[in-house]
Amino acid sequence: MKTAIVTGAAGFMGSHLVDKLVAEGYFVAAIDNLSTGTWDNLEQHGPERVLKLTWDITEYPDETILPLSEVDVVIHLASAASPVHYRRLALETLRVNSIGTENALKLAKRYHARFVLGSTSEVYGDPQISPQVESYWGHVNPNGVRACYDEGKRYGEAIAMEYHRQFGIDLRILRFFNCYGPRMQSEDGRVVPNFVRQALEGQALTVYGDGMQTRSFCYVSDEVAGIYAAATREGLAGEVFNIGNPEERTIMNFAQAVAKAGGVPLHTEFRPLPPDDPTNRCPDITKAQTLLGWSPKVSLEEGLEKTFAYFRSKI
Ligand code: UDP
Repeated sequence: MKTAIVTGAAGFMGSHLVDKLVAEGYFVAAIDNLSTGTWDNLEQHGPERVLKLTWDITEYPDETILPLSEVDVVIHLASAASPVHYRRLALETLRVNSIGTENALKLAKRYHARFVLGSTSEVYGDPQISPQVESYWGHVNPNGVRACYDEGKRYGEAIAMEYHRQFGIDLRILRFFNCYGPRMQSEDGRVVPNFVRQALEGQALTVYGDGMQTRSFCYVSDEVAGIYAAATREGLAGEVFNIGNPEERTIMNFAQAVAKAGGVPLHTEFRPLPPDDPTNRCPDITKAQTLLGWSPKVSLEEGLEKTFAYFRSKI
């Protein structure tokens, strides 16, 4: 049986990835400090397939903590990802993306395993080109309120690439664009859980700024298919991929889509735009299509329908 180590495994994206790896026949060592995740997301898996280790990856897990003999791939997703969470956990976010990333890289070195880094479209900051292609260096405020995440992930990419150059780690870097779906926390503060919860509770949808900023929303099963392709394809060492849905829309247009999917009239309430909120975000996915054979399949309508079904069962 192949073995994967997944950090951030109890979180939203991590737990869907563990489901996929188990379905593909892997044994998974799932690491999470539970700062934003919960083992409830993985209650469907027993210890014969998933080792659940409550552990903070900013501490290196030696052989006594993680007694595995062989590991094929280390997939590092641990980090707060919602702007509300990473503001609250700013220092923890910097540490998990720097010290935590190096510890995860050391695990890949220890086991001669492949390494997949969960990075983000936030490395592009407030991009001055659209769509964003992997070769774009970005436009980031290095010490603003989002820097703990943006710059944390940029440092993570830098050190991962250095481990690739110096130690020959078989690295793949993935930049995710606004992933959404079941298991997002209703209170995590991002636009998808906020709007879906507000629609279900009959409240106005809180639009920040004028709602003309854009995002591109990717359903979680598509995102996980991209991670799995990057984790299993040969011959991609040192490559960086955008993993997202290139269908770009304004937040105002997204509010309309959420109201429609929830079967409610659109009521909006305008709130101030948070500092350094990017004006646009849209992935160029040509490289992922070409080298990973990957492209997203789930429409926003279908993804929102599944997301509503999940939130209805929780609220
Ligand atoms: N946003 C909004 N209303 C909300 C939450 C977020 O209008 O209740 C906006 C936010 O200002 C940003 C976009 O939606 O422009 C996406 O925000 P999110 O926090 O989901 O993720 P981001 O892409 O900023 O990391």
